[in-house]
Amino acid sequence: MVILDGKETAKKLKEELNKKLSCYYEGGNKKCKLKILMVGNNPASEVYVRNKSKACEAVGIEDELIRLDENISQSKLEEKVLSLANDESVHGILIQLPLPKHLDEDAVTELVPPEKDVDGFTTKSLGLLAVGKDGFLSCTPGGIVYMLKNYGIPLAGKHAVVIGRSKIVGKPMALALLNENCTVTACHSKTENLKEITRTADILIAAVGRPLFVTADMVKDGAVVVDVGINRTDDGLKGDVDFDAVADKCSYITPVPGGVGPMTVAYLMNNTVTAYERSLKN
Ligand code: NDP
Repeated sequence: MVILDGKETAKKLKEELNKKLSCYYEGGNKKCKLKILMVGNNPASEVYVRNKSKACEAVGIEDELIRLDENISQSKLEEKVLSLANDESVHGILIQLPLPKHLDEDAVTELVPPEKDVDGFTTKSLGLLAVGKDGFLSCTPGGIVYMLKNYGIPLAGKHAVVIGRSKIVGKPMALALLNENCTVTACHSKTENLKEITRTADILIAAVGRPLFVTADMVKDGAVVVDVGINRTDDGLKGDVDFDAVADKCSYITPVPGGVGPMTVAYLMNNTVTAYERSLKN
């Protein structure tokens, strides 16, 4: 069994991106810029934003965290997003979620234009992915596909089972694997005979949000298992997969932490650099 090392793979991806940007900068091009909008000071968001900012520094992306008051109105926030959307020097816009309850998250997110939607959260980005065109794949599925390919894991023709169908992980994950020519089954809370389905998976992706949900009897011998879950429990941080029980049955498995998490941040960097490169071509 091989551990899919997200930390190492993320480091490699960030180094590649850094080399790319250095070449552009040496050629006299302007800086690649990412704007991060954060409303209020949700403690979990503070940690995520700090990690993203550190990654930007490693890659050579000029990031700016724009802190907005917790009580900002919907219209003022929308105005701010639109001004960044219209600013030609900005290549990527990220709205750190969740927003405070009085704000309409979807309405704000949808204002990010597809060419700057480095989180891949808008309807347009998901639509482009669905029809197999160049948009931005959201960062968790993007990071996972990058990692699987980096380890030389064959995808075409394999049966991939994705547990979870959220807009930011499960659905784009299923679409991304379909675009990689996997045969995909998308499972969710209404799925009948879940165990029978997961046992047929060559590649099993767990994005459920329930600690240790995937048990050994749900996994086929030799499967590739990717654990997206981040669950805070009394025993510490746990994934969606019962790692200790499942690991021996797998050919490859991601740990939690140190698997999908670092890849998500690295893929945000990848999307931002792609947005920058596309802007240079225009
Ligand atoms: P959501 O809560 O939005 O979605 C969970 C999905 O799991 C839903 O589609 C739900 O089905 C499905 N589900 C729930 N219970 C069952 C069940 N008993 N059987 C089958 N399916 C079930 O979560 P997210 O997609 O946002 O996140 C999933 C996990 O991944 C969380 O732990 C989150 O913290 C983590 N995460 C990790 C990231 C990383 O970088 N590592 C990034 C983003 C998320 P239904 O649609 O029917 O309700």
